This record gives sequence, structure tokens and C-alpha cells, in this order.
Amino acid sequence: MYNFFCKNINIVDFVNSCERELSNRFSYIEEIYQYNQLKVLKSFIENKVSESDFQESTGYGYADIGRDKIEKIFADIFGTEDALVRQQIVSGTHAISLSLLSILRPNDNLLSISGLPYDTILSTIGIHNEKGSLKDYNISFNYVDLINNKFDFENIDKSIKNNTKLILIQRSRGYTNRDALGIDEIKSVIDHIKNRYKNIYVMVDNCYGEFVNIKEPTDVGADLICGSLIKNIGGGKALSGGYIVGKKELIELCASRLTAPGIGKEVGISFNQNRNVLQGLYDAPKVVADALKISNLFIYTLNKLGIKTIPDTNTYNNDIVTAIILNDEKKLIKFCQIIQKYSPVDSYLNLVPIDMPGYDKKVIMAAGTFVSGSSIELSCDAPIKEPYIAYLQGGLNYYQGKLSLIKIIEELNLFNYDKTK
Ligand SMILES: *Cc1c(COP(=O)(O)O)cnc(C)c1O
Repeated sequence: MYNFFCKNINIVDFVNSCERELSNRFSYIEEIYQYNQLKVLKSFIENKVSESDFQESTGYGYADIGRDKIEKIFADIFGTEDALVRQQIVSGTHAISLSLLSILRPNDNLLSISGLPYDTILSTIGIHNEKGSLKDYNISFNYVDLINNKFDFENIDKSIKNNTKLILIQRSRGYTNRDALGIDEIKSVIDHIKNRYKNIYVMVDNCYGEFVNIKEPTDVGADLICGSLIKNIGGGKALSGGYIVGKKELIELCASRLTAPGIGKEVGISFNQNRNVLQGLYDAPKVVADALKISNLFIYTLNKLGIKTIPDTNTYNNDIVTAIILNDEKKLIKFCQIIQKYSPVDSYLNLVPIDMPGYDKKVIMAAGTFVSGSSIELSCDAPIKEPYIAYLQGGLNYYQGKLSLIKIIEELNLFNYDKTK
């Protein structure tokens, strides 16, 4: 079948040989998958997931038993006191924004210690004086950059003020050319903060990080983490939604702002999505493992062909995103177009860069996906700016990723037989 798609048999052979050389890495990914799969199954059994949890609720949703069970399971899997997992949280950005706006009060300070947060969060902070932003409520913000992908403990200490209430860490790379943060690094900085500043909460933007390791940031001391259900944890089956898990007092604040004070978590139907959310969660460890294998195949193969990636071959992924540094606008656009062209949905579309809300540069987004914009499905996006990095992530199955890689090598003329020796 690869020969049906690609006439140059040498490219297929080359990718096959790279795949064989990755067997150790793939076994490591399988071990993490195995652990997380059983962790999820254990929680489903202990919480007695039942067919009745899939039933639809209407109106206020006072007795949406499936929704309540989903929240217990999320809290269980992340080892937290409570969870808010809702269709009314419309995206990862919304989950993060909701958390910040729920916890922080006028005159408080927010400190980000992994550099500037993800692009779409900047509007919540209020860098352009957005209405309803933290700044609009007189909540100040500052940040400390990472140094060589490590936390800058000295400057973190210097930047903490008397009114710093919340420290934000972003696990994934976002649209930057740094590596994702490892759980051990996150643990060491949380330990440092908790030992010195008892009253500061630590929140982690966990987008793209779920099930990549056997531990989550809440296992190493984070008070609150959030993410999107159309990324890792939705397993490709959740149609929408976001989650926040953490300390009970914080979840209560978030729920009071999402709905209304005094009502909180008690209301809000799940729009008949309980089955999808549960089945997606159940599938997620496997889907994340395939996404990681695709990432590693791209990294290993492209590095051999002289293309730089972050992470590189020697580093284990701490999220499912691969930054591929193409240094060329045309190549970048073509790269994304090929991902789109070999997708199961909308393969025939010709992709072009456009302006998107929340991003300052034009962005090109390949997402030939069953769920619109889902980035746990194989997808690739890029802001059109130097050094022209394609951010590749997801993959519901490994072989679509492998085919896309073969086609990228062929159509971008990356294959030079000598380099394979
Ligand atoms: C995707 C992402 C977000 C925003 O999530 P959306 O669901 O796209 O709004 C925030 N932070 C990081 C690190 C992300 O990768």
C-alpha cells in the first residue's frame, strides 16, 4: 500500500529501517501506555461506570449522573480532590482563562515561570487592555523566562511579590522553540515554591501533556491543572469541552464563575456527550502512545535527513508536539499541505495561511480531522514567521503518520540516498 502512495521505493525502505531502529523507544512508549491504560481502567471499575451514565440529561442538569461520575474519575486519575469537566468549557484557552479569572482577585499578582504563556492566554492577561482581562480587574502579571529549558530559581525568587497569589507553569512548548517541561523539573520547582511560600498556588497548563508520562503535574504537587478535551485526554472521541482538576477550594471557585455562585457544579447538562468523553478517556492512553510513536518516527527520520527538530532524537518527549524547523516559508506551507492531503477528512482541500483570533501572525493549520480543529488527531500548524517551524501533533493511528512522513520526504525532496548511509 505504501507503494500505491509513493513511487520511490527507496524512501519507503528508508522509513521502514528508521522504524526498526526505534524499537527501544517504542517499547518505552508502550510501557507508559500500559501503565496509563490500567490506571484508567482501574478508575472506571472502581467508580462503577455503567450504561446508565451515558443517558442524556436536559434542562438544568441537576441529576446528570454521568457528568458527576466523569468528574470523579478525572479527579481520581489526576490524584486530586475535585474536578470540573464540562462541555460549557469550550476549549483549553477557556479552561485556563476560567481558572485565572476565578482564583485571582483585584490587586493580586500572577507570575508565569515558564516564560510568556501560550499566545491565546495573553488576551486573558490583558496585554492589549482587553475588556474582562486580568488587567481590566487590576490583577498584575509578570513572568520569568526559562534558561536553557530550565527554571530560573533565582529570578523566580526575585519576582515573587507579597501579592503573588498564583504561579503558572506551561508544560508544553506552545509556539516556541523550547522543549516541553519534564515532570521531574516541574516537581523540583514546585517543591522549591512550596517550601518557601506557603500561600501561593501553583497551576499548570497541562495541554498536550496528559498520559505522556506515568505522572501528571498534580502527582508532584500542582494545586490545579487544566486542558482541552479535544487534545490528549479526549482520545479523539470527545467532541468538545475542557477540564480543570485540583484542590477542592479552587475547583469551587472555578465552578462558581463558570455557572453562578451558590450553584457551581450542580448544574449544566453534558449535551449527551458523556459516552464520548468516557470512551475518549478510555482510549486516550493508546491514542497518546500512537501520537508519540509518530512524533518519534518524524524526529528520528528527519534528523537523519539533516532537519532539526525539538525535541531531537536523544530527548524523550514531554508532550505530543514536535517542532520541525524548516527555515523556509514555502517548505513550511507545503509541509502542512501534505499533512492535510493524507488525512481521512478534507484531504482534497488546498490549505492556505489565514488570520486567526488570538494569534498575532498569520497561521496555517492542517487538521483533516473528524472533530473540527482537534489536535489529538494528526494535525500540523504554524505561525508564518521565522524560523518557519511546523508544529506537528497527534495521530489517531500510527500508520497515517508514517504515510504522511513518507510523502513529506518525497514531495519536499528531502531524500538524498547518501545521507542514509
Ligand atoms: C492548545 C493549547 C492551549 C489552548 O488550547 P485551545 O483548546 O486551543 O484553546 C493552551 N496552552 C497550550 C500549551 C496549548 O498547547
